[in-house]
Amino acid sequence: MPKTLAGKCFCGAIHYAVADSFGYAMNCHCSNCRRTTGSAFKPFAGIEREKFAVTQGADNLMIYGDDKANDTHCGLCGSLLFSVVRDGAFVHVAMGTLLDDPSIRPSRHIFVGSKAPWFTITDDLPQFAEHPV
Ligand SMILES: [Zn+2]
Ligand SMILES: [Zn+2]
Repeated sequence: MPKTLAGKCFCGAIHYAVADSFGYAMNCHCSNCRRTTGSAFKPFAGIEREKFAVTQGADNLMIYGDDKANDTHCGLCGSLLFSVVRDGAFVHVAMGTLLDDPSIRPSRHIFVGSKAPWFTITDDLPQFAEHPV
């Protein structure tokens, strides 16, 4: 059994648990990820949906989108916690909301073609204009 990682939103109303068995992690520079996080890019980690669970505060979730494709925020403080993607099969956890240190590290930059002009990537990770192929 992989260990379980905990995460929470800024105000603490929402807590979640996720298996430490992410399949991939990336830094997304697309304009949607910049706006939902207010940051230069969003580090996220992907995992099968059944390996992720909201453990506290589910009544306070603010879900933007539908059951198979959404961004899920805390309805009280607004933190972006995770997104449901790939026709509802996976979640992309916003890594900034993890409390524990996952085994995985972001391995690439994606959507660099639309990154913020004021931000310069200074590491050597591979860069992709859009989705990696
Ligand atoms: Zn909150
Ligand atoms: Zn993005």
